[in-house]
Amino acid sequence: MNTPHVSPPPSAAQRPIRELPDELISQIAAGEVVERPASVVRELLDNALDAGATAITIRLIEGGIRLITVEDNGYGIEARQLPVALKRHATSKITSLQDLEQVNSLGFRGEALAAIASVSETVLHSRTQDQPNGFALDARTGEISPIARPVGTTVEVKELFFSTPARRQFLKSEQTEQAHCLEAIKRQALARPDVQWTVWAEGKQLHNWRRYTGPDAHTQRTADILGQGFIDDAIEVANEDLRCRITGFVGLPSVARSRADHQYTYVNGRFVRDKVLMNALRRAYEDVLHGNKQPSYVVFLQVDPRSVDVNVHPTKVELRFRDSRMVHQVLQRCVGDALAQPRSTGLLDTSASTLHAPPAESAPIKASPSATWRQMGFGHTPQAPSGQRLGVSELQALWQPQPPPTAPLQNPIDQPLTPPLPRDTPADDWPLGSAIGQLQGVYILSQNQQGLVIVDMHAAHERIVYEQLKLQMAQGAESALTQQRLLIPLSFSATEKELATANDHTETLAQLGFELTPLSAQSLAIRAVPAVLAQGDSVALVREVLSELAEHGTHAVLQRAAHDLLAAMACHGAVRANRHLTLTEMNALLRQIEQTDRSDQCNHGRPTWRQLSLKELDKLFLRGQ
Ligand code: ADP
Ligand code: MG
Repeated sequence: MNTPHVSPPPSAAQRPIRELPDELISQIAAGEVVERPASVVRELLDNALDAGATAITIRLIEGGIRLITVEDNGYGIEARQLPVALKRHATSKITSLQDLEQVNSLGFRGEALAAIASVSETVLHSRTQDQPNGFALDARTGEISPIARPVGTTVEVKELFFSTPARRQFLKSEQTEQAHCLEAIKRQALARPDVQWTVWAEGKQLHNWRRYTGPDAHTQRTADILGQGFIDDAIEVANEDLRCRITGFVGLPSVARSRADHQYTYVNGRFVRDKVLMNALRRAYEDVLHGNKQPSYVVFLQVDPRSVDVNVHPTKVELRFRDSRMVHQVLQRCVGDALAQPRSTGLLDTSASTLHAPPAESAPIKASPSATWRQMGFGHTPQAPSGQRLGVSELQALWQPQPPPTAPLQNPIDQPLTPPLPRDTPADDWPLGSAIGQLQGVYILSQNQQGLVIVDMHAAHERIVYEQLKLQMAQGAESALTQQRLLIPLSFSATEKELATANDHTETLAQLGFELTPLSAQSLAIRAVPAVLAQGDSVALVREVLSELAEHGTHAVLQRAAHDLLAAMACHGAVRANRHLTLTEMNALLRQIEQTDRSDQCNHGRPTWRQLSLKELDKLFLRGQ
């Protein structure tokens, strides 16, 4: 048999090894840096900011494919340096390996201008302070000519990828490319409220974000870009950890989005998309956001430049932390703590005298504004008005009266409960106020100093029960839920699968607070249930847990899906709609919301209560207008 002999085509073998021409090297390198117009925009903005600009104007034509210009008022480039700026690996920002290991500027690789110039028609215009006039350098011809212009630099990039048609084909529609360019601008503008940003597209001015320098600069810029609505429904975060300082805004679960398009993370002023940071944030939101909802946030991290390697990727959006575990921990805790604080406590800060001040927000009904958060300061421990915070055991006692084993089973919510209110505290002084009634069996209405509070009682109670279950799981003896034995076992007809699952998972079930025994080949007896859930529909609860166990198995249920299972259990245990509550019971529920972490949203991320202020009520009735 004649096997074909595999060898390189003779022409290739005969070709000599040669150094590539400069331009081709740049074009190859450009592939890494310049992917689309937005990459050009980002590089030019980096340069303008590195040059100390306080005002930057960006102009785009045809999504930046036909033309991108970025004009700044930075310190400019000297005439004789203009050609050097366009050279590959030419930079004024670092000179040694030591510099590279602690980069302070956005740029440092010295390749952006060279790369851009190799795939477009680029012209540099610049003037420094010491020059009476500026100079323009045409990158294609190398010609330098004097021009009149103020101090600063303008880079003009025309006909991107005109010489590399293959690349140009990969570009999307002008609209899409423009959207990417605008996103690149927003990312930088969010980080630099101290710079004025003006954006033009197709000859029309799209944005003019002014320069802010006061203490609220970041708040103002964030509102410019993400809207006042985001700021109203966000919590300002800040920590004091010197290894990793964190500032910024994290959106409440109620403003979560279906797309991950409002997620901005920065390290030392540089926008990055980093797995460690994204994971820490996902974990921080894990327990307040459910389903496919995406949180919104703008978070700035400040770390020692020597503790992070920014030279990992040509586009510098990726980086490597020396101690990524520490960064993960600090970020997750900072954001997680901020989201966990019951926001009702913030309501106390507004004194009654401000009630008739002009309304600050236009939204008719909203959760507590983040402004009160800022006044509270970060890391504030919610305090009851008397200054006392309920302990875990007191909280549990409230809903878990632990009847003696012989007492008939009672629903804690059916019992006359006396909330642990100090006698001298007028109920209006509690953040969520004092209950005045129940609406359609679904909502609790309550009055506080601000006005009216509306509480979704099932959602709120479900969250409280869920947090209790989690706490017991984490702190209970052998991480088990407290059991409550039933005086008379409840029997129900079970399927073969349910019987088998109950038999296979006795230990896990015990850990979850259940004791089940087979009664016959078709029925199971429930002898004990988790105490927190004793008042619910035990049969439905057991069926749900069994099906969960059958599907996922012990390990998954206790590790991965533990929270889902507890959430499902909590739903069974929570007070149902149409259940009549006494005022005392309603007040007990309000006090628990104030005391329970993450109680401002239900297990599905929806809000559990809303404040309607007197001002907003006045507006509804056109009072004083
Ligand atoms: P890098 O930013 O990594 O240094 P670039 O290729 O982007 O590399 O720019 C090369 C050099 O040109 C910079 O180091 C800087 O000295 C100069 N330069 C570029 N843009 C500007 C600008 N807008 N203002 C002042 N100097 C600039
Ligand atoms: Mg640069």
